[in-house]
Amino acid sequence: MREQVEVFGAHDHAGCMADAMAAAERHCTANKLQFTPSRRRVLEILLREHKAMGAYEILDKLREEGLGSQPPVAYRALDFLVTHGFAHRIERLNAFIACTRTEDRHTPAFLICRSCDRVVEADTDPEAGELGRAAKRTGFIIERTVREAEGLCPRCVERNAA
Ligand SMILES: [Zn+2]
Ligand SMILES: [Zn+2]
Ligand SMILES: [Zn+2]
Repeated sequence: MREQVEVFGAHDHAGCMADAMAAAERHCTANKLQFTPSRRRVLEILLREHKAMGAYEILDKLREEGLGSQPPVAYRALDFLVTHGFAHRIERLNAFIACTRTEDRHTPAFLICRSCDRVVEADTDPEAGELGRAAKRTGFIIERTVREAEGLCPRCVERNAA
């Protein structure tokens, strides 16, 4: 399992982008998936900043680069990335974020900074915790949970205090 990337703090971001792209590349090769230029580019755009981005924001970037100006291009690429776990959808913001833990199966929880829009992906265990215990008691099988918390990241807390 890969170390949790401390994206709110200083980190080797070039390395973190390269790791995520390489992991996506490996996954596509192993599973005979087509990592087309637009899919690759959308993942790079999402990885560039650890920020949630809306489909239209991504579409604007693709258009600037001449990779297609039709919304379906961006939606199809995002759909592919989310389906294969390279990106996640943040329901609260109706936006997308690149996954920083592509190597393992995980149930992400998101910490969303309402001031700078940066999002950190934390890993949670759906079997543990209150929801998991309640499910076990009632014989319910959890297939999917949505965990999103909104607040202030350390940088914005500091800026507010200054
Ligand atoms: Zn990074
Ligand atoms: Zn993830
Ligand atoms: Zn912030």
